[in-house]
Formats: sequence, structure tokens, C-alpha cells
Amino acid sequence: MIPRSLASLVAGILGLTCLEVAFAAPPVPPAADQQLARDMLKTLVEINTTHAHGSTAAAHAIEQWLLTAGFAPSDVTFLAPQDHPTKGNVIVRYRGKHPGKAVLFLGHLDVVDARAEDWTFDPFTLTARDGWFYGRGTIDMKDGDAALVESLIRLKREHFVPDRDIIVAFTADEEAGGDSNGPAFLLKDHRELIDAALAINLDGGGGDLKNGAPLYFEVGTSEKTYLTYTLETTSPGGHGSLPGPDNAIYHLADGLERLQALKFPVMLTATTRASFDELAVVDPGESSADMRAVAQSPPDLAAAERLSRNVKFNALLRTTCVATLISGGHAENALPQRAKATIQCRMMPGDTEANVRSTLMGALDDPGIKLTLDAPPIVSPESLPTPPIMRKIGALAHSMWPGVPVIPTMATGFSDDRQTRNAGIPSYDVSGVWIDADENRAHGRDERVGIEAFDESVEFTYRLVKAMGKTQ
Ligand SMILES: [Zn+2]
Repeated sequence: MIPRSLASLVAGILGLTCLEVAFAAPPVPPAADQQLARDMLKTLVEINTTHAHGSTAAAHAIEQWLLTAGFAPSDVTFLAPQDHPTKGNVIVRYRGKHPGKAVLFLGHLDVVDARAEDWTFDPFTLTARDGWFYGRGTIDMKDGDAALVESLIRLKREHFVPDRDIIVAFTADEEAGGDSNGPAFLLKDHRELIDAALAINLDGGGGDLKNGAPLYFEVGTSEKTYLTYTLETTSPGGHGSLPGPDNAIYHLADGLERLQALKFPVMLTATTRASFDELAVVDPGESSADMRAVAQSPPDLAAAERLSRNVKFNALLRTTCVATLISGGHAENALPQRAKATIQCRMMPGDTEANVRSTLMGALDDPGIKLTLDAPPIVSPESLPTPPIMRKIGALAHSMWPGVPVIPTMATGFSDDRQTRNAGIPSYDVSGVWIDADENRAHGRDERVGIEAFDESVEFTYRLVKAMGKTQ
């Protein structure tokens, strides 16, 4: 899951009280569907899908639900890579009236590990307590998986026929440390199964609350690209009692000092410009003027520098690179022959690896420091927050929560969107769950989702799947 960014900015940094958006009780699904979704959430949470266990059992459970609900076996496909049989994915195609490109929904099945001794409740048992469902995956993202599969079954029962095919892929290995990412595997070996005009990923976006009241609803349209470099210096070495001027560790340290001073140029995207523009309306204070000024074209650089004092705003305004690991030398009493540092970069959508590399080389200004890229990046271009897509999702959000501001956002982390965006499928993060801006327990202890928030998200997901199945 991509941590929700903007709400904590607004709520935490600007000290906002929340917007005065009061909701009548938002709609929830019919009682039988509500119960079915809760039962599915329970089953999925209680199937351990951490890396050690894999996602195959959860994929088979979903496959079975779909077949029982009447989906044709030829439209429900279980697939695991041959060399990773526990990293199963299940893909269902809900057939539409017209041929042509489908809409793809994504939900990952894997969860981050959780140790029972760290938790108040068993992480792999769904526990209802004081209006909350506790359990690993309740917010990231078995809630979304349950909402998706229940919505498909409800639509099928209602004999809904979409204009275009709706594909839902429940996939393996999104979380860090995975070796068999589902969307990457499917795009590479089974593209026809998930090829689509656009993708909706329930792993990000969604509503942000402040003290239980709604702030705004995020639509994730972009994320930064992950890039890692190694810096390396060498020197002749020798006896520790005979130091000379050529020392790999000092040489590397000098380079790192220059990198510490490096600031990449301010760069706005359609998304971040819209984010700042909207936040400026939400915040009536001094930062509001800076946000409005930075959203101008060209951006006001003095305003950008003031905003950049905050690390989160800084990350939204430019590519960043930072030293994260260092090593050097081989013995306490020997001169070093080698020193290395790892530089972790997060590149803005639209920036390029070649540009990041040449900026780093320019700052290092030293041919004696070798710079290598650790792995080819999965470039994640922005999916534009176009008026049609923002209007469509906005109208859906307002059908549930009238008047809530709907804001496009860029994540500083990454999700499976990078796979689909890199493959040329515009991808948007849309989730119907509201969570408190000050509380994000995804990946952490006592992960939970509000029971009412879950029920509302199931209804929202049903409306979302239905609406996205229409081409207008
Ligand atoms: Zn997630």
C-alpha cells in the first residue's frame, strides 16, 4: 500500500481543523451483500499470505467463490509462475457488451508479516472489537480484495452487463521482498489476460479523516520511480602505520559531502500542480499562498524553497537522492583499498535515469568516483488526472459522501501501478475506505479498518466497478 500522503500533510503540518463536510449516513450494501463481504474479509484475513506462505490458497478461495457464483470456468484463470507455485494469481473476466479494451481492477493478495506476540489480537484471526475489524490485511488490502470479489458476485446476481469487459486480477507479491510480482508476471507472460485501456488499483487513494471527520478523497495518479546507485572509490591500500593522501574512504566521504548539498531542480507535474492548487484552497494560512504560487506555471521558486523545508513537500517537489548504506576498508590496521556507498533516488514522473545520473556525476565532479546503477528502474509515468476520469471518480465519491473534495495525488513510494503504467496502461488508485490521517497501521501492529468504513467501501466498490464498466 502507498501511504496516504496529503492528509497527513494538511492535518499534521498545517494544523488544520478539518473541512466542514458533514455526511448523512452514507449508503451501505444490502444486508446479505454486507454479510457476504464481511465473511470474505474474514476468510481472506485468516489465510496467511505473507511471503513465506504465498498467495495461492487465497487465490483458490476467490476462484471458488467466483465459480460458485456462476462465472464461467473459462473466464476465471488461476496462474502461478512455474518456479513459484505458491505465488498464485487469479484473474476473472466479467464479459461486456462490446469488444474492445477492458478496464482492469487490481488487488494484491499478499500481506506483510505479523508476529502474534507484537499484536493485541491474533493477526491472522479477524477480530471485531469496538467498531473495528482487526487483523493483518484489514486495510492493506484484503478489505479491497473482499470488496472487489463481493461486488462482482452482486453484479452477476443482478444480471448487470457492462459496456466493456471488466477484468479483476488478484495478484501475488506486491509487498517489499517479493520475488514473484503478480502483475509483472502476468504482463510478461499472459498480457492478453489483463490487457486494458486503464487500470484501477484499490491499493491506494481513498478518504482521509481528521478526528473522525472527512478531509478529502484522494485519487492516486502517479508515483515516484525507485532508483538505486552504488558509488565506489579505490586506493592502493597498505599498512595502517603509513597513511598517505590517497584514501578510498576520505575520497568517498568528500563525494558524499557534495551530494549532500545537491538539490534537484523543482519539478511540477499535472498531478502535483493540482494537489498544491487544491490544498491551497483547503488551507487558508501562509503556506496556502506558497502552494498557489508553486502551482503556477512556471512555479514560484522562492515559494518552492519555503515549502521544501518540510521533507514531505520537498519529496513532492523534486527528484531526491540520499545516501542509505556505506562500507569500506577490510581491516582495522590496514589502509582501505575500497569504499562504497548506496545512493537511493526517487525520481519524479517525467524525469529520466540519464538525467539523474548526469546530475549526480555533475555534483560529484570527480572521475575517481565510480557510479553504477544497481538495477534497471521500472519507470512509472504519470497517469494524467484528466477531467473525464476525475469527474467520473468524483461523481462516484459524491454519490456516497456528498461535497467531499476529490484531489489527485502523487505517492512518494511505489505500488503495482508502476508495472501497469510502465506497460502503457494508465492506472489510478481509488479506494472507498476512509482512514484517519493520523493513523495508518498498514504494515504495522494492530492493523484495523472501521467496520462501517469497510461496509461503505464495499458499496463504493460496487458502484465503482459498475461505473467503470461503462465507457461513458
Ligand atoms: Zn498494499
